[in-house]
Amino acid sequence: MTDERIETGEPDGLERLWTPHRMTYISGEEAPEGGYEKPAGCPFCRAPHAPEDESLVVARGESVYAVLNLYPYNPGHLLVCPYRHVADYTDLTEDETVELAAFTRTAMRVIRAVSSPHGFNLGMNQGSVAGAGIAAHLHQHVVPRWGGDANFMPVIGRTKVLPQLLTDTRIMLSKAWPS
Ligand SMILES: [Zn+2]
Repeated sequence: MTDERIETGEPDGLERLWTPHRMTYISGEEAPEGGYEKPAGCPFCRAPHAPEDESLVVARGESVYAVLNLYPYNPGHLLVCPYRHVADYTDLTEDETVELAAFTRTAMRVIRAVSSPHGFNLGMNQGSVAGAGIAAHLHQHVVPRWGGDANFMPVIGRTKVLPQLLTDTRIMLSKAWPS
């Protein structure tokens, strides 16, 4: 049987990670008045102050906190953010840098303990051009990965399949987070 896909463009050997759920960021549908640039409209400045029943905060440190991504790639996809509204990794103080790293490691241990991922993507997108949805407030992604988690659904259906509600993920992770 021959492959009947109609090929357009030149294959370049790169893999593609399709993330259509991020279109709400790109299209600005949910952007607050004044945009994400100002702390008043910044979700990462506001997240630590959300009421307990709406909060997605998993753990709080001295200078950083961990919060579930509202637009997760996978269940347990969380973000480690400084409380301060700073954009660039080089803007962090020494204390913030150390605690951000410690929180990233703890997040990996906690997610491993509760949901046994096969791997992780860790990282920061610095600047809009590099893919940061909210470039003004830096955030470290911790994305658990499972073999086969990038299936056909995002491509065909513009839909990312997430088998767990954020509120349930939050409870599971915050219970497992060492105090
Ligand atoms: Zn902010």
